[in-house]
Amino acid sequence: MGADTFGNFIGGRWQAGASEIENRNPSDLSDLIGSYAQADRAQAEAAIAAAREAAETWAASGLETRYKVLMAIGEELIARSAELGELLSREEGKPRAEGVGEIARSGQFFTYYAAEALRQIGDTADSVRPGIEIDVRREPLGVVAVISPWNFPTATAAWKIAPALAFGNAVIWKPANVTPASAWALSEVISRQEDLPAGAFNLVMGSGGAVGQSLIESPDIDAVTFTGSLGVGRRIAQACAQNLTKFQLEMGSKNALVVMDDGDLDVATAAALNGAFGGTGQKCTASSRLIVHRAVHDAFVEKVRAGLQALKVGHALAEGTQMGPVVDAGQLDGNLAYLDLARSEGCTHIWGGERLARETEGYYLSPALFTDTKNDMRVNREEMFAPIACVIEAGDYDEALAIANDTEFGLTAGIVTNSLARATHFRRNVKTGCVMVNLPTAGTDYHVPFGGRGNSSFGSREQGRYAVEFYTQVKTAYIAAGAP
Ligand code: NDP
Repeated sequence: MGADTFGNFIGGRWQAGASEIENRNPSDLSDLIGSYAQADRAQAEAAIAAAREAAETWAASGLETRYKVLMAIGEELIARSAELGELLSREEGKPRAEGVGEIARSGQFFTYYAAEALRQIGDTADSVRPGIEIDVRREPLGVVAVISPWNFPTATAAWKIAPALAFGNAVIWKPANVTPASAWALSEVISRQEDLPAGAFNLVMGSGGAVGQSLIESPDIDAVTFTGSLGVGRRIAQACAQNLTKFQLEMGSKNALVVMDDGDLDVATAAALNGAFGGTGQKCTASSRLIVHRAVHDAFVEKVRAGLQALKVGHALAEGTQMGPVVDAGQLDGNLAYLDLARSEGCTHIWGGERLARETEGYYLSPALFTDTKNDMRVNREEMFAPIACVIEAGDYDEALAIANDTEFGLTAGIVTNSLARATHFRRNVKTGCVMVNLPTAGTDYHVPFGGRGNSSFGSREQGRYAVEFYTQVKTAYIAAGAP
């Protein structure tokens, strides 16, 4: 491997791939970040064998060993967040502050689960049969395959890898091919943990169709945790059903931000700008549907339009950039197709949606806003994963709630209101896994559960203490002590 060629980490060794891909900066296509290994099916099989071998050793490791390993990874990520955050922003295109924040947050997932490793406390009970005691404890699953997307290339992986390791599992990570540099950087930190046995953590960069498919079809994988699109999630569910492999899916969304007539319009505008356009709209928690009470519709639209006009779109690493480029050419084409669709479906164009030229050649697009949209239009039903928001007018609160719930997805929703009654009713009746009051639909904490309903999620919740449900299995022991 050359100096700018980055390998896979299999069985405790860095290895060249069967081929390589080039990784370019979406803010500056002349900037080559490096060449990254592409595993083939044989290398995926090698990673599975290595993980199987290491799983028992890691499962038998002491809790303090796991604590120390996870704490060291977390602390290094936090300490190096400026450097690694810059790399993340350079390859993914989110503004530097968001990249740095993502690395620091990823570190917090490791430090949080370092402590959780020590908090593995089970249940005891008396049997209904006198003289018998019962001990209920959790044990590791074995080998967990982690399959992650590009939009939060480090954080989505960290919130899976950290609990998987904390609860004593071996890990094989297949990151998204669009963002291999972030995957390699996190893996490099993990690879230096001397107390982690060779094979307990493996990185296999490569295509979803080859490497990903090999992992999900393997009878030697005990569990698959996935974040990505609905289509790939369905394929994973089918493959896992064949071997009865445990799986967990976090997928698409079509999140609604409801703005009521009694809400603070400045709070609503800030929530819409942040929620719909942060991360260039490429967030599973993005509020692409803005459901607005008729009485404040025009005033709200004008405030958001003014906000978008002022929003600075540019190179992810440039000073003052508030929105970076779209991640790659394929994603840009998809975004442009949705802009055409919005116009052809009869939406009124208020702002943006143009290709932008900047000093460097990149996938720049101005943030777009449409009004006069209906909830049954495709732009309001399909996940666009784009800096595009559509306003849907509602006559009253009941109508707004009904529109918010009229979707196949159910990840997050938000309401801007000063009415306690409406906020409470919305919290209790919106059909999503997360709900925000007077806050953007994006932006969640690491110590509490995260996930959705409907076609947004399948399986038990991720993050916080709830993650133990997925990464462990329960054993109930009956003990007859006998006469003393
Ligand atoms: P994809 O579903 O395209 O890819 C996700 C991962 O799956 C990638 O690593 C991909 O590899 C891999 N993959 C592709 N095909 C297969 C296969 N046949 N078998 C196994 N693995 C496969 O999603 P994106 O990366 O495009 O991410 C965007 C999506 O992620 C959006 O729908 C978004 O909503 C969702 N997302 C959901 C979140 C949530 O918590 N609900 C959070 C963040 C994102 P490769 O890259 O090589 O194709």
